[in-house]
Amino acid sequence: MASFVSHLECAYTGKKYQAGTVLSVSESGKPLLVKYDLRRISEQFSRDDISNSNEDGFWRYSPLLPVEHQKNRVSLGEVVTPLISLERSAKMIGAKPGMALIKDESRLPTGSFKARGLGLAVSMAKELGIEQLAIPTNGNAGSALAAYASRAGISTTVLCPDDTPEINVRETLIQGAKTHLVNGLIGDCGKIISDGESSLGWFAVSTLKEPYRIEGKKTMGLELAEQLNWMLPDVIFYPTGGGTGIIGMWKAFAELIQLGWIDCKLPKMVAVQSTGCAPIVKAWEEGKEFADYWEDAETISSGIRVPSALGDFLILNAIRESGGFAISVTDEETLEIQNEIGRRDGLLLCPEGAATVAAYRNALESGMVDSNQLAVMFNTATGLKYPLPPVESHIEKENVDFSVFLD
Ligand SMILES: *Cc1c(COP(=O)(O)O)cnc(C)c1O
Repeated sequence: MASFVSHLECAYTGKKYQAGTVLSVSESGKPLLVKYDLRRISEQFSRDDISNSNEDGFWRYSPLLPVEHQKNRVSLGEVVTPLISLERSAKMIGAKPGMALIKDESRLPTGSFKARGLGLAVSMAKELGIEQLAIPTNGNAGSALAAYASRAGISTTVLCPDDTPEINVRETLIQGAKTHLVNGLIGDCGKIISDGESSLGWFAVSTLKEPYRIEGKKTMGLELAEQLNWMLPDVIFYPTGGGTGIIGMWKAFAELIQLGWIDCKLPKMVAVQSTGCAPIVKAWEEGKEFADYWEDAETISSGIRVPSALGDFLILNAIRESGGFAISVTDEETLEIQNEIGRRDGLLLCPEGAATVAAYRNALESGMVDSNQLAVMFNTATGLKYPLPPVESHIEKENVDFSVFLD
């Protein structure tokens, strides 16, 4: 099956680029977006064809994806991730059961939603004949790239700041990437990679510096629409780093409207950041088009520790167009919620996911969101990748004190 891509377009200037060639950013250094012949898609497919598809996970949306030949799809058994209602923890948050849903992305290959973007990026790299990939990463992107690239037989170099969580570095190595620690920040890793692009022939798959990761992230929006029977929630809380997810979902909704597959009100898009790294929140509050670099970024939510995002203007656009907002939460609030949701509802959220629930609670409290509105929070990775609190109770088998079991 051929793809329905018509061309690519600079997200800032609108300048058009030809599909089927190796592209990174536009001439003005801004992200490129993939454009489709949506009229032709709507003539050949209906949303029921999608609902009746038996393809794995996000590949069921392939008419809306850029991969031309099925043989180039790189797959590790993707799944449609479940929507799980908060039940026993709802009251503590101020939510109504059934109105607060977690989209649990931890079920994807490599345990994070980075599988969506990198699955697509690697498939397109295979299709375009790219032989060497490289990425700077704070964690989950590295392991997802490693896994998909190894699966495709493409060589990969991953550079991580030396304070990247140990588990992310090790999972990247064991899934086949040449993995290096750098005594610097993500920006320093990115600089080494740009230099290697010209000297070593690497192709960089850094966030929004190639056009296809966003197409993978777009499938979160498509999947949500299909799961809700071609309706959308009232509000979406999304942990925002580079912002590919917010930008991708907003793109998905626009495409679904043009296809005539949805005609409901669009959700308010809420960008959730940490108070230790909140460039988008600051720019939104100040009404700016672009965000300033965030100095000394620090948060336990490593996936959203992104001081500067190439797609900042696109994130801010999606928030404004949707009537949403940007909000930050503290690491203390995040840990408190992670703990509560684990203990009461049996879901081990990652800190980034817990941050979205903390933001939802705060927004309910301040009246920015109503508990009768259907809210979706994204749990973007498994909590198992992060440090967990130790068990402190020890029992001596020779001398059991049964009173310890009573509290
Ligand atoms: C990368 C990442 C994010 C941020 O995703 P963007 O779409 O780039 O904003 C959030 N959570 C986790 C766990 C991540 O790995």
